[in-house]
Amino acid sequence: MKKELFDFLNTDLQFIKGVGPILAGRFADVIGGQRILDFMLHRPSYIRARDIIDNIQDATPGDVITIPLLIKSHRPGARFNRGRHRPSQITCADKMGNTVIIQFFNSNFLEYWLKKLPIGQWRIISGKLEKTGRPTINHPEFIEELQNADKIPAIQAVYPAGEGLTQKQFSNIRDQIFAGLPQRLAGADERTVEFFDAIRHIHFPTSADDLNPNAIYMAKLAYCELFAQQSAIAISRRKRTDERNQRDIRPVKYSLMDKFWDALPFKLTGAQQRTLDEIFDDLARPVPMMRLVQGDVGSGKTIVALAAAIKMAETGAQTALLAPTDTLAGQHYAKLKPMCDKIGVVCEMLTGRDKGATRREKLISLRSGRTRVIVGTHALFSDDVVYKDLGLVIIDEQHRFGVSQREALRNKGKDTDLLALSATPIPRTLSMTIYGDMDVSVINEKPAGRLPITTTKLPLARIGDLIPRISAQINNGAKVFWICPLVAESEELDLTAVQSRYDDLKKYFPGAGLVHGQMDKRQRDDVMEKFAATNSDMPLLVATTVVEVGIDVPAATIIVIENAERFGLAALHQLRGRVGRGNQQSYCILIYGKNISEDGLKRLGALCETDDGFVIAEQDLIMRGTGELLGTRQSGWIRYYFVDYREHRDLFKLAARAARDADTPDQWTRDLMYIFDRGEVIGA
Ligand code: ADP
Ligand code: MG
Repeated sequence: MKKELFDFLNTDLQFIKGVGPILAGRFADVIGGQRILDFMLHRPSYIRARDIIDNIQDATPGDVITIPLLIKSHRPGARFNRGRHRPSQITCADKMGNTVIIQFFNSNFLEYWLKKLPIGQWRIISGKLEKTGRPTINHPEFIEELQNADKIPAIQAVYPAGEGLTQKQFSNIRDQIFAGLPQRLAGADERTVEFFDAIRHIHFPTSADDLNPNAIYMAKLAYCELFAQQSAIAISRRKRTDERNQRDIRPVKYSLMDKFWDALPFKLTGAQQRTLDEIFDDLARPVPMMRLVQGDVGSGKTIVALAAAIKMAETGAQTALLAPTDTLAGQHYAKLKPMCDKIGVVCEMLTGRDKGATRREKLISLRSGRTRVIVGTHALFSDDVVYKDLGLVIIDEQHRFGVSQREALRNKGKDTDLLALSATPIPRTLSMTIYGDMDVSVINEKPAGRLPITTTKLPLARIGDLIPRISAQINNGAKVFWICPLVAESEELDLTAVQSRYDDLKKYFPGAGLVHGQMDKRQRDDVMEKFAATNSDMPLLVATTVVEVGIDVPAATIIVIENAERFGLAALHQLRGRVGRGNQQSYCILIYGKNISEDGLKRLGALCETDDGFVIAEQDLIMRGTGELLGTRQSGWIRYYFVDYREHRDLFKLAARAARDADTPDQWTRDLMYIFDRGEVIGA
């Protein structure tokens, strides 16, 4: 790839006009990276047509409409005590004389709206028609004078936005990126130009069909993605079996496993034992281990990982355990440290929070080989972190890391073994194509005495019934997660909804806490840590989906999930796994709105019936609609950008065959592997 293009793709989003570091960070949370390339790969999920109508009665509630309106009167909003407020209302009339109300929930900007919507004048308004009461548009997305109607796009790509981001911010970045692209592509070869042309078409669709999986540009990109993946797998498989890559097996120098078994407070399940046997076999083989352990939430993967680390310590080599966030790293450390102390193995934690002298000391201890087990985040593979002999890399929630990150850490050692942990079971039908270069162990058994979580669904209208039930549980020492996802396109509105739910709940549970995506990360971690602490007086936590999937709060026995119909099955199963981690009976309550579809009800029903992650993964695959469901990215499915599991089965086969047949990858194949983040497998 030409350097100009490469540098462009790797440009940090914060350097785009109107973005900056804070906003770029939010983008990173949603799209999984902070480079122009990450943005390009984050495709719109659907298309909105903005046909202009004249009569409000022609629209169906829930539609996005564009309509000329005559502004008739204003009623300013007001702020009452206890944080409640009344929205500003602007009463208008359409061309037929029908009344249409425009509402703004943030009354601070009244002056501004008065100016934008002067009484007695016509404006063209575009926004979503609410489903309740009189025809109402909350926070219109566009307000233009009639002669500027063409400023409202006739067809608009809608991005999966998540928290803290608006469609306007997406289109601003998109426009700037694609304005700058042609100049960087000048002189690039034909395949490169065609690839980016396809990318551009996806971001500027011209018809509703353009985003269908089988539309020409989508299929082309899906093929490229699969080909990149299959090429990386083919290369990795060849490399592993290549005899020249065989290593010397590390001799055992110390005896530690007996101490480990003595320190273990319980007996391993059969599945844990079997997995551990497989791992020990791998460690004794002349080819580095590449093993994925799949086990449902709560199946006990951590202790298996620790046993592997202790086994490695018997050779004197080190183990690094990589977790996606500070909070998760902290939880692992809290579990591993006491065990390691008993065995006499030095265990430390290293995260971005370590600065100055503390950090220096930890690095010295790593370099000298004194620290045998290190738990941490991305900080573990910073340039200045040097290991004496890194023998084993363990990656928790492996789907949260790209292959390049995994390899960056592995490359800190020689012949390093890799153990990846994943909480989302991949259906067997797919695991071969997806994890073709890894061996897979499955922990399909829960520790004895674990009670299945009781899952029920409840319509929103009956939410009041929950309060006494929850109060009773809290009085018995229970802790409660209350999940309020931000789902509408108008972030501001949604945040108001979360805030007011929190205000309501605080009346019943004064100690309740709140975390959401617009809070500072440090502040968020503080609240979550307070909730997780054993003796905290925070019995209930209202959280948007920013709540860490892996967070471990053993006393949590209830999770309430609002808008459950908007989540994918696998994501709901993950969230549900936040409870049921002790030996108490736990409950999951799925709350759904009155507009739930039949499919949506079926999905929730499936979840109430089974607790088996494999069954759910298969169901998820079959039932997932084309619409973007919340949490599909984060829930452990491999991160595909353009591939649709159901529609592209034939492309899987084509790509696999093409990749197998190619002996050495050419430049364009290597570029593709880089683009789809699978390049570092071979150090391309
Ligand atoms: P996972 O990471 O797979 O979600 P963890 O490793 O965090 O699960 O284990 C969940 C809980 O179960 C932990 O508190 C752990 O100590 C406990 N646990 C693990 N294995 C067993 C076992 N064989 N018997 C009893 N408890 C266990
Ligand atoms: Mg875990």
